[in-house]
Amino acid sequence: MVAQVHEMSPGSAADAKPSPGGGFLLENACHRDIFTAEKFSEEQRAFYKTALDFVEKEVVPHHKEIEVKAEGLMPRLLRKAGELGFHMIDIPERFGGLGLDKTTSLLVSEAIARQGSFSVALGAHNGIGMLPLVFYGSDALRNEWLPKFATAEIIGAYALTEPGSGSDALGAKTTAVLSPDGKHWILNGSKMWITNAGIADVFTVFAKIDGKKFSAFFVDAKSPGLTVGAEEHKMGIRGSSTCALTFEDVKVPKENLLGEEGRGHKIAFNILNIGRLRLGVAVMGGAKRVLEVATLYAKERKQFGKSLTEFRIIQQKLADMAVGIYTAESMSYRTTGLVDIAASRSAKDDPEHEKHLQDVLEEYNIESSIMKVFGSEVLDSVVDDGVQIHGGYGYSEEYAVEVAYRDSRINRIFEGTNEINRMLIPGTILKRAMKGELDVLPVAQEVQQSLSKAQSPIPPLGDGPLAQEVQLAELVRRATVYVVATAAMKLMTELEKEQEQLTLLADMCIDTYAIDSTVRRAIQAAKDDPQNVALHEAMATVAAYTIYERALARARRIVIELFPDEDQYTRAMELRRLDINETLPLFPLQRMIAAKVIEAGAYPLHYLR
Ligand SMILES: Cc1cc2nc3c(=O)[nH]c(=O)nc-3n(C[C@H](O)[C@H](O)[C@H](O)COP(=O)(O)OP(=O)(O)OC[C@H]3O[C@@H](n4cnc5c(N)ncnc54)[C@H](O)[C@@H]3O)c2cc1C
Repeated sequence: MVAQVHEMSPGSAADAKPSPGGGFLLENACHRDIFTAEKFSEEQRAFYKTALDFVEKEVVPHHKEIEVKAEGLMPRLLRKAGELGFHMIDIPERFGGLGLDKTTSLLVSEAIARQGSFSVALGAHNGIGMLPLVFYGSDALRNEWLPKFATAEIIGAYALTEPGSGSDALGAKTTAVLSPDGKHWILNGSKMWITNAGIADVFTVFAKIDGKKFSAFFVDAKSPGLTVGAEEHKMGIRGSSTCALTFEDVKVPKENLLGEEGRGHKIAFNILNIGRLRLGVAVMGGAKRVLEVATLYAKERKQFGKSLTEFRIIQQKLADMAVGIYTAESMSYRTTGLVDIAASRSAKDDPEHEKHLQDVLEEYNIESSIMKVFGSEVLDSVVDDGVQIHGGYGYSEEYAVEVAYRDSRINRIFEGTNEINRMLIPGTILKRAMKGELDVLPVAQEVQQSLSKAQSPIPPLGDGPLAQEVQLAELVRRATVYVVATAAMKLMTELEKEQEQLTLLADMCIDTYAIDSTVRRAIQAAKDDPQNVALHEAMATVAAYTIYERALARARRIVIELFPDEDQYTRAMELRRLDINETLPLFPLQRMIAAKVIEAGAYPLHYLR
């Protein structure tokens, strides 16, 4: 049997060492107990329920007015969210906030995501807008401004992107120069695509001191010389404000520098780390709403004398949507659990706690990128299926699924495009391996040796529940470690330039985390969610076979591209040892999952049940 090693379980495994960032590559698959949605505390569920009630009763009914940016509506809704304490969750207690864990914070983001524009505005306010101040502001700035953020008396925004620099954020041209009397920074330049710009009272602005030292500044929107451009006319999230900013000799008090001069890149990237974590959860929440909308429509709509839900191919779409969500959900809360357990190693009232939290978020930045990429692509596939299930009606503005389809598209672009995030995943793994921070190389040697010697496929790791799926997860992990190490050894420093390879390697890492998280969660469901265990197992089995099949195809492609000569044969033979001899029909399981979705009229594993 597989040994039980506790990766983490917030509040219950004080002596357990959490898996390091990227650690899912190092150990046998499904080896550790992970944090899952089934382990939410009463308090976490209560926050989720409050946020869900709020969004359903106070936000969704105003959908049409939100989408035309009705005057004053968005700030009013943000203030109402403030009354429920949502903006206080990430503010430390010593600055008047609640200082709660990231799981609670992200459960609220998941619920709020049921209205896309509001979700983006809220995230820009109390996420990327406020967190630079929480993490990097002086005590004076935090004492003055955080209570106002908490109520949304002031609204925040984050201004990094410029007309000439998006993905290449450090290529910013906005400058900051100290005034001759040494009391102010003088900002000049422009920013582009800034969420909340039209309603914001304060901005975190990135600029280069003397054109060189990339730094962050806390800027009052009323500062003379700061101009907010016209609202952009966007494909989706139309109710959120998005404008350009222009800075002409804007004076910013000297003490409004966030963090240190020349360390703005740390601020920008650490805030993006948490932004990705949050977006990864939010897109999964959005996908749950679309599954609900599509299921209800399919139940009501009749063709050929039958409800759409009676057609197998519609059932298969509903099942695919649910399995995608299950996979994203398993990875998401595993990651928030990892962050929470690692964060809990420093006391919340320790003045260095925020510094510790930044380190933790950086530690799990591989997982955050995985969640962002996988979640945003699941949402795109879910909204696409949702429109298809609606037929022509899905193409009409009158239907919620049309809005969801347009709103979804931005998620692959902001918080780092999915291309950039994909390159970060293997890039970070290899960088950590080279520095000796992630022991992936000895693991790779072991895998390579075992593959060069083995005569037949790796045998199952145990005979417990889902033993076959655990084996698939292990085969995917070995394939990933094998190709990452093989590509690194073959291409060495040239790998950085091989973007097609990096993208495939990233997909293999995503596959590994996805299969491991879903199968492990389903195993734990026997204890944590016994009444739904058959459903967990069906979801995990469909996910596992699907991921396994595509991961092995990717591994082959990587090897073929790396060795276009005779070496290809040896490598292909090695990879073949990761093939299983027998596989499983999945259609019956998909039908069973669809039946559960149809019965629930929604994603069938609901936290409030
Ligand atoms: C609605 C909306 C809201 C936004 N909100 C904010 C906000 O609040 N604050 C903020 O600062 N920014 C915001 N942004 C900006 C967003 O973060 C950027 O659009 C994003 O980072 C991409 O930058 P870009 O648009 O300049 O595209 P580019 O960087 O020009 O990229 C174009 C394409 O090239 C690819 N690409 C770029 N570099 C590489 C490379 N090295 N290798 C391979 N491919 C590459 C990209 O993946 C992409 O597919 C927002 C954007 C939108 C549309």
